[in-house]
Amino acid sequence: MSELAYPYEAPASQALFDRATAVTPGGVNSPVRAFRAVGGTPRFMVSGKGPYLTDADGREYVDLVCSWGPMILGHSHPEVIAAVQDAVARGTSFGTPGEGEVALAEEMVARVEPLEQVRLVSSGTEATMSAIRLARGFTQRSKVIKFAGCYHGHVDSLLAAAGSGVATFALPDTPGVTGAQAGDTVVLPYNDLDAVRAAFAAHPGEIACVITEASPGNMGVVPPADGFNQGLKDLCAEHGALYISDEVMTGFRTSRAGWYGIDGVRPDLMTFGKVMGGGFPAAAFGGRADVMAHLAPAGPVYQAGTLSGNPVATAAGLAQLRLLDEAAYDRVNAASQQIRGLVSEALTKEGVAHTLQNASNMFSVFFTDRPVRDYEDAKAQESFRFTAFFHSLLADGVYLPPSSFESWFVSAAHDERAVQRIADALPAAARAAAEATA
Ligand code: PLP
Repeated sequence: MSELAYPYEAPASQALFDRATAVTPGGVNSPVRAFRAVGGTPRFMVSGKGPYLTDADGREYVDLVCSWGPMILGHSHPEVIAAVQDAVARGTSFGTPGEGEVALAEEMVARVEPLEQVRLVSSGTEATMSAIRLARGFTQRSKVIKFAGCYHGHVDSLLAAAGSGVATFALPDTPGVTGAQAGDTVVLPYNDLDAVRAAFAAHPGEIACVITEASPGNMGVVPPADGFNQGLKDLCAEHGALYISDEVMTGFRTSRAGWYGIDGVRPDLMTFGKVMGGGFPAAAFGGRADVMAHLAPAGPVYQAGTLSGNPVATAAGLAQLRLLDEAAYDRVNAASQQIRGLVSEALTKEGVAHTLQNASNMFSVFFTDRPVRDYEDAKAQESFRFTAFFHSLLADGVYLPPSSFESWFVSAAHDERAVQRIADALPAAARAAAEATA
């Protein structure tokens, strides 16, 4: 067994992590789970109920990750579980069309006005990959504009964030992505419409689409500046490119109609995941019917999936969406507002420079006193303070995202008791952040 970095904390999790590391690269199935940014033993969770998670050592945490967004009603919501049990009892996968996927698509289309047609897939990565392919097939152009700090899943051409300044050709962000795959990606600074204008001017008739997080949450929460999304939409329309709004994180979380319900900027294509799957692997892309008509079997752009529209996943997603009425969003928003206030109050009391940013109920804390408008700003924060803050909260039973570049997520189940537990843990965490050294 390896030496424990934080021996007092989680022996059962550590034992599982040791087993996992023997059979899985880095011991996890998605890198951020490994706690590399903060150190220590990743917690292996065994159950979740409402706003709480319980780990393998039997410790309970108030969960501020919510499975990175999907669990907006809290864990094990009885009606979602009942819908899943009902679906499972009828069989788990047929590889044929079924009513559940139609009902989920209808619910989504009814909520998000620009979503005229939708195709279900199994992950957000598949959704963005397919939307980009469709945009290229529809426009018969090859280049894609994306923004530094925006994450759209591990799509080869979108794992490119290097390069700064206007119309910089992207360098691959990871071995395994070739220069050719990244070469059609133009990476620009977020919230910089002049850079987008210049990129369109530099590549006339070549840009298939602009893809952006509707309101970014993958460099911490960095909302679009006033008019930014509308400016993107207008530039795309002017140059014959498609505007793709990635709502995998914001969709059905930031409002009934996601970020579209807040800024009203009408995308040509949209992508979804997380909340719409109710904790199961379901995701989607969709938008303008004339563009979606180019997708197989209606049109020539190929896209498919063995488990797409899976009956259990669609049952979970539909049950969750149907429970998400205005009252549910009010509860999520109120919990978010309360927790933001408590965090800010505790850090201010200890004199810790910080900026709390939110996009509806999504929020994150940057350890800097300056507003964060793009990835460069986000990287300029004092992340070492987050590490101390994180571990203090973890030790006191509050589970934060293990990185200072992630959104925090709350649920409609975060009630007074859960919020009070966070309030009780915050003074020590703020003190730890204040005392931290680089
Ligand atoms: N797009 C956004 C905005 C995301 O936040 C994510 C994942 O966090 C993805 C796409 C990829 O989704 P998935 O992890 O389901 O592949």
